[in-house]
Amino acid sequence: MNKHIKVTMALLFCMVAMNSFAQKQGQKYVMVIHGGAGTILKKNMSPEKEKAYTAVLTQALQTGYDALKAGKSSLDAVEATIHIMEDSPLFNAGKGSVFTHDGKNEMDAAIMDGSNQMAGAVAGVSIIKNPISAARAVMEKSEHVMMVGRGAETFARQSGMQLVNPKYFYTKERWNGLQQAMKEDSMKAVLDHHSKGVMKLGTLNHDYKFGTVGAVALDQAGNLAAGTSTGGMTNKKFGRVGDAPIIGAGTYANNSTAGISCTGWGEFYIRNVVAYDISAMMEYKKMSVAAAAKAALDKVGKMGGDGGLIALDKNGNVTMPFNTEGMYRGTVTEDGKIEVLIYK
Ligand code: ASP
Repeated sequence: MNKHIKVTMALLFCMVAMNSFAQKQGQKYVMVIHGGAGTILKKNMSPEKEKAYTAVLTQALQTGYDALKAGKSSLDAVEATIHIMEDSPLFNAGKGSVFTHDGKNEMDAAIMDGSNQMAGAVAGVSIIKNPISAARAVMEKSEHVMMVGRGAETFARQSGMQLVNPKYFYTKERWNGLQQAMKEDSMKAVLDHHSKGVMKLGTLNHDYKFGTVGAVALDQAGNLAAGTSTGGMTNKKFGRVGDAPIIGAGTYANNSTAGISCTGWGEFYIRNVVAYDISAMMEYKKMSVAAAAKAALDKVGKMGGDGGLIALDKNGNVTMPFNTEGMYRGTVTEDGKIEVLIYK
């Protein structure tokens, strides 16, 4: 072997070694969040309201960033970030959840670990202060993936979760939203059976569902995690569960593809298995996260559904598509730069 080749090979070896060292050191960590998609128009937003939303989204991103920077897992970052939004009355998750037809708050949440496809979810819970933590407890402390209603609440109590009086979740704005939705609903046809499976917009009040929250993170160890938490849809009937807690529909994470959290008209996300569809398109068709997310959302749109999603792949590529007027969303990367967006 001549000297030139030897030097080139040594250099190449160094570069490969440095690259894998950098990856092990986890130079890249990213957090992406959403606070729901819907009819969010600048003309309907007061400067104060816009400021308030931006402040909570920024705080949520900062919380996730601090966790990731400190070397915590993507699961820890997702959970801590979602707590901030669950605790804010501005979003349809935890405090500030929308009301069911019966005038209750029934929340759904899920979390998934992309490193091993472990997942946990709760649905239809009414007394758990932070449903995302209950979802994580189901994942880590039970042999199950999903627990609902009373059982989930009993399990949360046994797991040491903070429980609250159902009144804690009340906000006047959401209560008024229910009254408005019921008024409008009574004037509409319930379902068009002749629409070949395509539900008509307005069957469920599509303007009253935004505000679900979600987060996806990539940590320093290269692990992805995704979580979603929601009060569901205003005026939802008797035990309805949306896409958020259904693994593969509203929430999914897989280290070899992406982490995904969806928001929007849940029935369409369930029927299209949106979050897993994105992962599958990436895995089988070798599509980029952005192309796969767009294709999956297009299917939802074609069927008559609306909403958006956030997705983050193992290389830190982010996409945040939506087919509504707006979606509360934001990202933070390892340089600490926070970006918050609301409108199209
Ligand atoms: N996807 C949620 C649900 O259908 C609602 C939302 O994202 O706003 O329960």
